Amino acid sequence: MVDSLFPYELRKKQSEIMTIIADSVEGKSHLVMESGTGSGKTICTLVPTLGYALKQDKRVLYLTRTNSQQRQVIYELRKINAKEKIFGLGIQGRHQMCPSLKQDSMMAKGSPDELSKICGKRKMEVLKSISEGTKPKSCKYYAKVCIEDTSSIRNWAFETHPTVEEFTKRCEDEGICPYEANKSLVRDAVLVTAPYIYFFNQFIRTRVLEWMGCTESDIILIVDEAHNLPDYARDIESMELGIKTLDMAKSEAREFGDLRTSDGFHIAKLMRRIKDIISVFQKDYLKEEEDAFIPPGEFLGELMHEYNITSRKLKAMASDLIIHGEIIKDVRLKDGVLPRSYIHSVGHFLSFWIEQQNGEFVKLIHNHGKTQLQIYCLEPAIASKAVLECHSSIHMSGTLTPLEEYRDSVGLPSDSILASFPSPFPMENRVVIYVEDVTTRYEDLSKDRTLIPKMEDYLLGLSTAFKRNTAIFFPSFRIMKLFLADGLYFGINKRFYVEEQGMNQREIMDLVEGFKSRSQEGAVLLSVVGGRLSEGIDYPSEQMEILVIVGIPYPKPSAKQKAQEIFYDRKFKKGWEYAVKAPTTRRLLQTIGRLIRDEKDRGVAVILDKRASHFKEFLPDLKLSPDVIKECRDFFKNG
Ligand code: SF4
Repeated sequence: MVDSLFPYELRKKQSEIMTIIADSVEGKSHLVMESGTGSGKTICTLVPTLGYALKQDKRVLYLTRTNSQQRQVIYELRKINAKEKIFGLGIQGRHQMCPSLKQDSMMAKGSPDELSKICGKRKMEVLKSISEGTKPKSCKYYAKVCIEDTSSIRNWAFETHPTVEEFTKRCEDEGICPYEANKSLVRDAVLVTAPYIYFFNQFIRTRVLEWMGCTESDIILIVDEAHNLPDYARDIESMELGIKTLDMAKSEAREFGDLRTSDGFHIAKLMRRIKDIISVFQKDYLKEEEDAFIPPGEFLGELMHEYNITSRKLKAMASDLIIHGEIIKDVRLKDGVLPRSYIHSVGHFLSFWIEQQNGEFVKLIHNHGKTQLQIYCLEPAIASKAVLECHSSIHMSGTLTPLEEYRDSVGLPSDSILASFPSPFPMENRVVIYVEDVTTRYEDLSKDRTLIPKMEDYLLGLSTAFKRNTAIFFPSFRIMKLFLADGLYFGINKRFYVEEQGMNQREIMDLVEGFKSRSQEGAVLLSVVGGRLSEGIDYPSEQMEILVIVGIPYPKPSAKQKAQEIFYDRKFKKGWEYAVKAPTTRRLLQTIGRLIRDEKDRGVAVILDKRASHFKEFLPDLKLSPDVIKECRDFFKNG
C-alpha cells in the first residue's frame, strides 16, 4: 500500500498523487509535477519516497528554497514517525549553525568557502592540542565534539527529529559544535533536507554525499518549489566582475609589495586597465540600456593589445593572478582573518571569460545598480545534470506550468513523467476575468495616450466600488511609477500601501501587515508581479479579495533575455515559448494563486490587458468581461 505511512485522513487526489510518485520512483524515472496549494505536496511526496527508500536501501534528499520549507519537511516526518520510525534531519551551512560565527563579526561576512577554510584551520589546531595534551584554544565547540561523549545529543535527535534550529540550539546549550554534530548524524538519516546549493554545487554535493555515505545513484531527489530551479541553475554557473572588486584587487597588489605577473606586468596597473576598459564598454555599449552584449573577442582583444601579448600569455596572466590570490588567502588565513583575495577573484573571472567560448554562455556588461562585466549561463542543464545520475527525481511546485518547458530547460529526459493536479479548492470560489480595450504593450502605450487613463478608470472603479482589500500588481516598478505620476492616488479614498524598489524585508513585512490589517474598511496595495508580494506571501480570507494585474508581465527586453530566446530557439526551436511565454505564464499563475489559499477563500482576479487571451490554455477559467465592476458585484453578492 503506497499510503501505509500516510499520517492523516486522505483527502481528494492524495492517493492519486502518491501513486504517481511511487510509480515514478519504482520505475527510476524523473517526475515533473504541478500540484496546487492545499494538496499536501510535502506529505504526499515523503510517504511514497520514504516507503521505497526503506525497502530498497535508498536515501531521500529533499531540497528546499527556504528554512521554513525545510522545517515543514521535518514536521511532516514527525507525523510519519507515529506510523514508523524513520530518521531524518536538515542540514544548513556554517552561517546558520556555527556558534563561533555569532561571536565574530568578521566571520559573519565570510563566504561558505572562506568559513570552511577558517573552520578547517581551527579544527586542525584543536586536534594538534589534543594530540600534544594541551588545552585546545581555537574552537571550544569542536574540542568538546572530539573529547566528550556526544551520544546524548545523538539519542535525543533520533528520538525527537529536531529542526535545524532546534538542533543548533540544543548543541549550543551543551557547548558542542552543531555543524559537526549534525554532519556525524547525516550517515544515519534516511531523509535529509537541505537548501538547493547542497546538491547543485558540485563541490558541496561531493561533500554531502560523503557525509551520507552514498552516491547519486542511491538518492531519490525531491526538488521543492522547482519553478525556481532554472533561474537558480543559471545563476550559480554565472560570474560577475565589478569596479569594487578591481579597486580592492588594486589595493591588495600594493599591500603585498606591488605584485607583478610572471611576465613582469604590475597587477595594480592591470586592475586599473580593466577598469578603464569597463568604462569604455559602458559608454560604447550600455548607454541607456540596463545590459548589452560585449562583441566576441573585444575584452580579451583590448588586453592583448594593451600588453602586446598572445592569447596564451593572457591565459598565463590569469593563472598568475589565481596563484598570487591563493598565496594571499593562505597568508590571511595564517593571520587569523578571512582568507579572501580580490586578485584571485579577478584571475578566476578572467580565466572563466577565456574558457567560455561556446553558446551556453553570453558575455555582457550590465548596470543593475552597479556596472559589472558578466558571463551569464544560458543553460540550466549544466548545473542540473547531476539530477540524471540520481536513482530518480521529483520536481514539484504549485506553479510549474508549462511542464514541458521545465523538463527541457533543466535537461530531464523526454520520457520524464509530467503530471498536473489542479487546486483542491472549489473552482467557483474564484473568478478570473480580463478586458480587451487596454494593454501595456510598449508600442501601443507610446502611440495611444488614452490607454493609461482607461486603465486608471478600471483601477479607480475596482478600488472604490467595494469595501474589500484590493491588490494591484504592475508588470514593473517603471510602469507603476507611470500610473503614480499620472495621479492614481487621487480619487481613491482608501489607504494605499505601495511597495518601493529596494525595500528591505522588515519594510516589506510592515507594508503587508498594514495592508492585511485594513480588510474591514478595504485598503489598496500596489506592487509588482514577480516580486516578494506576488509570490511567497499568503493573503487568506478577506486579507485580499480583489487582485488586479495591470498588463502582462512579460520579461523586460534586455540583451540577456534576447540571448536566452536565441539559445532556446537553437536548442528546441522554441525561443519565444520557452524564454518569454513560459516565465510569463508562471508569473501570472503565481500572482493569481495568491487569491485562494484555502477552501474558504474567495476572490476575483482581473487582468487589464487584451493579451491575457494568449494564456487561456493555462487559465481555463479565464473569461472576457464586458463589465468588470458588475462581474465583481455579482460574484460578491453570491457569497
Ligand atoms: S568546528 Fe564548528 S564551531 Fe568550530 S569553527 Fe567549525 S563550524 Fe564553527
